[in-house]
Amino acid sequence: MPRTLITNVSIFDGSGALPFPGEVLIEGNRVKAVANGGERLAAVGAAVVDGEGGTLIPGLVESHAHLGFGSAVDRVVRGRVRSAAEMLLITAHTAKVMLDHGFTSAYSAGAHDASAETALRDEIAAGWLPGPRLRACSFEREAAPATASPGRRYVSFEQRSPDVGSVRAFVNEMARIGVDSVKFVVTGDNSIVPNTSLVLLYHDDELAAAAAAAREAGLWLNAHAHSAEAIKLVLKHGFRVIYHCTWPDEEALDMLEARKHEIFVAPTVGLNWTNIHADPDYAKRDNGGALREQIAKLDHLGELLPVLHKRGIRLLPGGDYGFPTNPIGRNAHDLELFVKLFGFTPAETLSAATKLGGEIMGMGDELGLIRPGYLADLLLIDGDPLHDVALLQNAERYLMIMKDGKYHKAPPRHRQRSAEPA
Ligand SMILES: [Zn+2]
Repeated sequence: MPRTLITNVSIFDGSGALPFPGEVLIEGNRVKAVANGGERLAAVGAAVVDGEGGTLIPGLVESHAHLGFGSAVDRVVRGRVRSAAEMLLITAHTAKVMLDHGFTSAYSAGAHDASAETALRDEIAAGWLPGPRLRACSFEREAAPATASPGRRYVSFEQRSPDVGSVRAFVNEMARIGVDSVKFVVTGDNSIVPNTSLVLLYHDDELAAAAAAAREAGLWLNAHAHSAEAIKLVLKHGFRVIYHCTWPDEEALDMLEARKHEIFVAPTVGLNWTNIHADPDYAKRDNGGALREQIAKLDHLGELLPVLHKRGIRLLPGGDYGFPTNPIGRNAHDLELFVKLFGFTPAETLSAATKLGGEIMGMGDELGLIRPGYLADLLLIDGDPLHDVALLQNAERYLMIMKDGKYHKAPPRHRQRSAEPA
């Protein structure tokens, strides 16, 4: 089995503990041993990488991935109807760009096309295409009745009768396609249609049926939920991931805390920030009303997230990257926003993107930490992200990207030494 020794590095192991000088031995696709301080690992026959004082961290995990939104830092894709084949190729490209920027895993928050996403997941897993380990999702199911006109999004559940059969059929169809999770858009969203974030789209019975069908099929449940009412409803029905989670009331906060070992919350701050600071057209929409709402929401998140954090709820970076103004490749910006806006330390935000990332992938016992037995998804960083987490947004600072024990980006030649003879 091929062995690689990475030496002369500062190791941030993902746990949140301070980095320590040491070396790491990789055997096959897993970490074999980790040495701390002056201790040397027996590495006869191993190829050696001299980290020259760089920082070694676990691969990053994107918790709110939309590979099918299509835009990447090197290629902006503007909205027009494209063929399924073209979309699949665009999606494969965005997966590669995500990996180029240090994200070795991605938890999908909604596919453009579930069949394309499961196919891509399997191609990547088999090593045929470059990309992050992928947990594939359904498309994002809204609850608009079949009669709704195209311009009429986010119809309140009160304006239609329950349709349990369609919900169940959706989950079963997605299970047949082979997704890992299904996503329900449980509330509207102000950033898309003004004044809809508090509009509840589903009946209680429908979500109960969704949960039962998902349990039976072994699928995880993800919710897009802004309002307290929606948050409580999805918690009641055993949803695992809550995106946004913007307006929990005291009762919802207590419910979130009571379920903190079972759930994940991804506030999705990146797009919110981009709408305000990086999209010149956003302010023009709705005579600036949408912009004012986005600013108020970001202020609110700045107060809410420290409360959720203090209650021990697992909060993960991941911010709807893939639009022209926040293309894939910028995903690490969310880590910086967690520090700047939510009071996380760099170690906390990095641990959320690695250790908690492994947990949201359902692989917490083998992904997200640099520990013996863990999968060798490792990044060698030029510099110290614990000092400046923003440097993770610069692909050039990734001197080495290793996924599953193999180089996606090999370290520079002068840092590599061939194996010592056995
Ligand atoms: Zn999303």
